[in-house]
Amino acid sequence: VAFSPQDVEARRWLCERLSEVGLEAGTDCYGNVLGTWPGVQRAALIGSHTDTVPRGGWLDGALGVIYGLEAARVIREDRPDRSIGVDVISFQDEEGTYLPCLGSKSFCGLLQSGEIEAARSVSGEPLSDALGRAGFKGEPFRARPDRHIAFLEAHIEQGPRLISSGTRVGVVTSFVGIRRMTVSARGRADHAGTTPMTMRRDAAAPLFRFAAWVSEHFAAAGGPDTVWNIGKFAVEPGAANVVPSGAQLTLEFRDSDPDLLDRLEAAVYEHLQQLARETDISIEAQATARIPPARTTETVSDVIAVAARDNGCEPLLMQSGAGHDCMILGKSMPTGMMFIPSIGGRSHDIDEDTDERDIVFGCQVMVNAVERLLMT
Ligand SMILES: [Zn+2]
Repeated sequence: VAFSPQDVEARRWLCERLSEVGLEAGTDCYGNVLGTWPGVQRAALIGSHTDTVPRGGWLDGALGVIYGLEAARVIREDRPDRSIGVDVISFQDEEGTYLPCLGSKSFCGLLQSGEIEAARSVSGEPLSDALGRAGFKGEPFRARPDRHIAFLEAHIEQGPRLISSGTRVGVVTSFVGIRRMTVSARGRADHAGTTPMTMRRDAAAPLFRFAAWVSEHFAAAGGPDTVWNIGKFAVEPGAANVVPSGAQLTLEFRDSDPDLLDRLEAAVYEHLQQLARETDISIEAQATARIPPARTTETVSDVIAVAARDNGCEPLLMQSGAGHDCMILGKSMPTGMMFIPSIGGRSHDIDEDTDERDIVFGCQVMVNAVERLLMT
């Protein structure tokens, strides 16, 4: 995890490997690792993140960094005199142990004032303490649109679509937008044995009805890739013999179409009003996160798709249901992202794995895509 002794050691290790292939490598004050191809004005930027989640697997993040290292190594061996080079980056804390996408946000100049000071781990450690502990030094690295022709990120899919369709490469065309809201209901606690059903003001009842409506309505009105989740549901006071006086749930839904997200959100508010009228329970909904969808750059995606076809694979064009550093980088430069299969669609767990042949194949496609990009 970000800023652990292992993370710090891995970042130092990566600097050594990047230096070995002839890049000028170092870390910035956050622990971002950047390897810069010397003697060129322009370069493709390749990478991902080397931090992970607790008990995470070995590929989420690290794969895309090692593909960058390998691309720089073979392209330097082949043509050390190129006029356009390959820079390699490992961003810090993509997983948000302290602050999601800390490294890429800083790289793109998107950190808000006070964000560093406010960030804490789940155990309550301030990010500023972690930064002091890790001891990284140096000015923050910055995206350089004058230098970086594009950012390319490879990643395991973290879902089952590639593995189940037998496709070895996915080309990400978009990142889903996320809407998250908390819905709270207020009723009245009563004895659950003696209060007649008609006299109860059960706060949980309309939220159970709401949860059932969500699964029906989103299936009918959502798109083929819309996903939704009620991941938290709490009832107060929480006893078998007490009619609930309060209830609260969180609803999250994701899609890459912003208009569809708007329509679904409007339908949620309308349905909640209707439930409140029908049940005489006061219901409040509050939006807690609105992350807009993002797209990768078509010309860069085309280069990855052509490289996959050159290697005999018709790639799957897909949306990413998870956020990635690439989504942030899109605000600063053209971007492209490729996925390789995850066995069983597993990730964020120690069981996460990919067939070694798929890892090697994906790297071949990435290197060929970078070579094509350097020619354009
Ligand atoms: Zn990742």
